[in-house]
Formats: sequence, structure tokens, C-alpha cells
Amino acid sequence: MKFDHLLVRYGELTLKGTNRKKFVNALKDNVIKSLQTIEGTHVKGKRDRMYISLTEEADAQEVIDRLTKIFGIKSVSPVHKTSQELEDIKKLCVDLAQDFKAGDTFKIDVKRVDKSFPLDTYALQRELGGTILQGTEDISVDVKHPDHNVRVEVRMDGVYVFTQVFEGAGGLPVGTGGKTLLMLSGGIDSPVAGMEIMKRGVNIEAIHFHSPPFTSEKAKDKVIELTRILSERVGPIKLHIVPFTELQKQINKVVHPRYTMTLTRRMMLRVADIVLENVGAHAIVNGENLGQVASQTLKSMYAINDVTSTPILRPLVSLDKEDIIKKAREIGTFDVSIQPYEDCCTIFTPKNPVTEPDFDKVVKYESVFDFDDMVQRAADNIETLTINKDYKSEKDQNTDALMDELF
Ligand code: ATP
Ligand code: MG
Repeated sequence: MKFDHLLVRYGELTLKGTNRKKFVNALKDNVIKSLQTIEGTHVKGKRDRMYISLTEEADAQEVIDRLTKIFGIKSVSPVHKTSQELEDIKKLCVDLAQDFKAGDTFKIDVKRVDKSFPLDTYALQRELGGTILQGTEDISVDVKHPDHNVRVEVRMDGVYVFTQVFEGAGGLPVGTGGKTLLMLSGGIDSPVAGMEIMKRGVNIEAIHFHSPPFTSEKAKDKVIELTRILSERVGPIKLHIVPFTELQKQINKVVHPRYTMTLTRRMMLRVADIVLENVGAHAIVNGENLGQVASQTLKSMYAINDVTSTPILRPLVSLDKEDIIKKAREIGTFDVSIQPYEDCCTIFTPKNPVTEPDFDKVVKYESVFDFDDMVQRAADNIETLTINKDYKSEKDQNTDALMDELF
């Protein structure tokens, strides 16, 4: 039986007291944006839930797929709506049960939100259960492990009946928590870090450090593709690509090899801080994970972090690599991240980087050259792309045009 509404249940935003209206409105905006390109949908956001009405031409499965990816949504159910007339409710339940297979079991769960409804919960449950048994063949009741849980909600504006619940992404609606700058490499960790932060309702802009010709166009395309995947959930994301070659070469020229990595990270943060200021963000996010590599020991973090007072969020700091990989697979970034294109850090990584940098040495090595102009120049020459889920690089567009001409 084709359904005509989707019921959207809110996640944590129901805890947000007086801010609730702001959260519901933000979620509604995000839902409308996400469904924009699907015909035949209409969104109605209420205090405690959202309804999406669907016309005949709407692709319901696609709508459900998109909704379950939006942060702030706990679950989605296809629902049928009817009046509070008992006969209408009975007819709807029997029609629904026609989709059950021979031998299936069911259970009725009534929720009576409108307390003025004449029958009490148990009476309505009994009435509807009996009606389904009479109106079908070879179907029975099982209250413990039913194949179908028929949920009936009696509300002021009508009665809603549904059997399926699709789990949503949870979290808070993106846009309610301000903006951060995500340091996005081509690796496994940073895209996952970005997703974790967005889940808390926070917008991101991404920054990537690129060192041509030492790092290839393919490495850049990989980061673009990762940004595109992240944008599927939240709409367009700005990606700032920093020309980092000059700084990296200079660091490698003047700094002791064991300390180049520490200094490189400090320069990255300096550039990131300028960009953060320019775009109005309030924190930097990275994919650091305690103990994973040389730059991710406590002493390294301390020495690197020293260049800024901006909060640095590290959502993956305590996770096991296995769990990060699992998350990367879930959000669809893993296969892109493992493509073997070099990152600017990989190429310049010394054989034997210091894992516990001596803070005084860091300051001493950095003082041999005045890096400020180079840092500013890198920030001034950023290339900014706005990436949405349909983004195609210039190269892809050219290939498409060529194919169109040929065929
Ligand atoms: P990832 O898998 O995210 O690359 P990683 O385990 O390889 O992380 P590092 O290479 O030490 O670890 O990087 C730590 C963090 O620094 C990354 O998660 C990312 O946030 C940031 N970072 C590293 N390289 C770059 C880069 N080229 N551009 C932007 N951010 C970077
Ligand atoms: Mg990396």
C-alpha cells in the first residue's frame, strides 16, 4: 500500500528547552534544502515532529534515503493518515495488512495523544486487532516477536498508522552550532573528524595544504571528492586550497630534519588561523589521534598547538584506528581516502621525525628565518572552491563536453 506522508522524529533537539524553535527551524531549512530537487514533497515542521507529504510522483525511497542522512533526525516512518472515525481507522489497518504475507504475525500498538478520543488505548487495540484478523487470512497475533508492529497514533488532527521505522543520523541540525575550519588531508581520519563535528550541529569550511609539483593534481582531486562526499549531508562546503610549496621548501632548507614535521604543522596552524579569521569560524578541527604517528604524541601536540589560542577540536583523539576505519566506511569516504596519492606531509616527512620535540629547540629552529611573510602569502593566494554533492572538477566537465561532441 502506497503511503502519502513521512513522519520525521527529532533527535536530541527535543532536549533544548527554549532554543527548541531555533533548532526545529534549522532542521526544517536543512530538510527543505536536501529535498529541493525531488518533485512532489511538502515539509511541515511542528514542535515535536515533522511531516512530509508526498504526491504520487515523489520518489519516496529517495526521500527516505536523504532524510536519514540529515543530522538532527532520529528516525523516519512512512505513515498513512486518516480521520478519527473508528471505521476509517479500521479500514486503513485492514488495507495495510493486505501487504502482510501468509503466516505472518502482527501486534497493534496504540498511542492515544488526544485524550478526548472515545475509546481507551486497550479498547482501540482490541478493536483494531480483531478487525485485522477478520479482514485477512492466515495471519495471527504475536505480541512478543511480531513480524509487523502496527503503530497507531491518535492525534488531534487525525490518526497516523505506520509499521516501519528507519533509523536517522542523530545529532543536531547543522547550522545551530556555529562554524569551524576543518583541516582536511587526503587521509582516512580528517573526513571522519569533519563528519563527527558536523553531527554536533556545526558548519564546516575545509582547508587543505597542497604542495605542487611535489603533490599531484590527483591528490587535490581526492580532497575535492572527500569534500563532495561530506557535502552530501549538509549542502555546499567551501574548500580552501593553500599553496604550501614555498613554506615547505623553506622549512626543509633551514630546519633540522628531525624537526621539519613539527615546524610544518606549526605553519599550517598559522595559515589556518588567518583563514579562520577571514571566514568567521571559531575553532579548528583536525583528525589527530593520540599516539598514531610522530606528530600526534602529547609533547608534539603541545609544541604545535603553541602557535594559536584558537580552540582545536580533535573528535577522534581517543578512538582506535579500527573504529575510525569503520566510521569512514559508513560515511563513504574510506575508498577515496585509501587511493595512493601522496599528501604534502608524506612527501616531506623525514625518515626519523622527533616524537617528543624539545620546546626550546622548536623555538630556536623557527627563529632562524622570518616565516611571517610566507605564511601571509600562502593565505593570500588560496584557491577557494564551493563543492556541492554534484560538483564536477573542470577536468571532468571538459571530458563531459568532449564526450557530448563525439557522441
Ligand atoms: P589523516 O588520515 O586525516 O590524514 P593522519 O593519521 O594521516 O590523518 P597526519 O598526517 O599526522 O595524520 O595528520 C594529522 C591531521 O593534520 C590530519 O587529520 C588533518 O586534520 C591535518 N592535516 C595533515 N595534512 C594535511 C593537509 N595536507 N591539509 C590539511 N590538513 C592536513
Ligand atoms: Mg595524513
